[in-house]
Amino acid sequence: MTEFKALQISEITDNVFQCEVVERQVEDLPAGDLLIRVRYSSLNYKDALSASGNRGVTKNYPHTPGIDAAGVVEASSVAEFAVGDEVIVTGYDLGMNTAGGFGQYIRVPASWAIKRPQGLPLRDAMILGTAGLTAALCVDKLEQAGVTPEAGTVLVTGATGGVGSIAVVLLKKLGYQVAAATGKAEQGVWLSKLGADEIVDRAELQQGVDRPMLKERWAAAVDTVGGDILFNVVKSLQRGGSVACCGLTAGVAFQASVLPFILRGVNLLGVDSVELPLVVKASMWDKLSLQWKLDLSELCQEVELAELPGSIERILSGGMVGRVLVRLD
Ligand code: NDP
Repeated sequence: MTEFKALQISEITDNVFQCEVVERQVEDLPAGDLLIRVRYSSLNYKDALSASGNRGVTKNYPHTPGIDAAGVVEASSVAEFAVGDEVIVTGYDLGMNTAGGFGQYIRVPASWAIKRPQGLPLRDAMILGTAGLTAALCVDKLEQAGVTPEAGTVLVTGATGGVGSIAVVLLKKLGYQVAAATGKAEQGVWLSKLGADEIVDRAELQQGVDRPMLKERWAAAVDTVGGDILFNVVKSLQRGGSVACCGLTAGVAFQASVLPFILRGVNLLGVDSVELPLVVKASMWDKLSLQWKLDLSELCQEVELAELPGSIERILSGGMVGRVLVRLD
């Protein structure tokens, strides 16, 4: 029997959940093609939802969250992967209803795993994690819709968060003029250091929800928050502009009107990094290891399993700044 450490969420009474580091057995992991010794994981908003008992994310407890994992194959039943291969697994059911990356071992289908690109060490891959993959997918979608640096300023909402902060760094690297919208005025200097040319107060983006249209302001946007802010962003895109929508921290529902679409020809682009075909994920990871390789040293803090509960509280309260890398020594 191989024992390993994992963060486990248990329901102690109706809707009261406890979070603790426990010893688990490899034999108790679900069936799968690959047994992976996880070296690094990362914290995403969805992990915090799972850790707090959100049944939309995780139906059954006890459960180990962690939608991201990077590690080394220890056993493989398929020809495509050999013992010793370094792999990245993000999304699909990992950490939702399949024991996830907040444990030292995972067992998953081979169809969830990609070999890490040469230029991207496991640690760097997990500093990016699902947040980085999502930021890259958002920027890719905007570019596919014809957005270029010459078009004007690109707004990033929820800019101090995981997806938002990486989007700021990536857009800057690609030569865009970047406006970072945040509810954390005190992080303005940090956002400027990451590459924001302009800091926008989140409260400003919450005004004018009842107005049919707003002044044309943004060539494009990466929206990580949803809710009324997304509605206002759609109404303040320049003619032909696009917004990539990926998040819901400000709410899942948003009002809508056809006016921005039929008067300014704007585009609302949905981004899903979870169920995306593996081949698309792999091409995005390749890009992040080469032409979109980012220096993220400024936005990452490293924790071990025992320190995760504090980070989970912080991300749930909207107080997260940057990315949390989880080390599974
Ligand atoms: P984080 O918590 O790291 O970032 C979210 C940010 O949103 C916060 O830091 C804060 O930034 C802002 N925010 C928090 N609460 C509110 C609020 N009430 N109103 C407005 N803004 C708020 O989360 P992640 O970066 O991990 O994820 C961001 C969103 O994207 C989440 O909703 C997540 O579920 C979603 N997501 C979707 C994916 C997909 O495939 N579609 C993949 C990954 C994430 P600030 O203080 O700077 O405003």
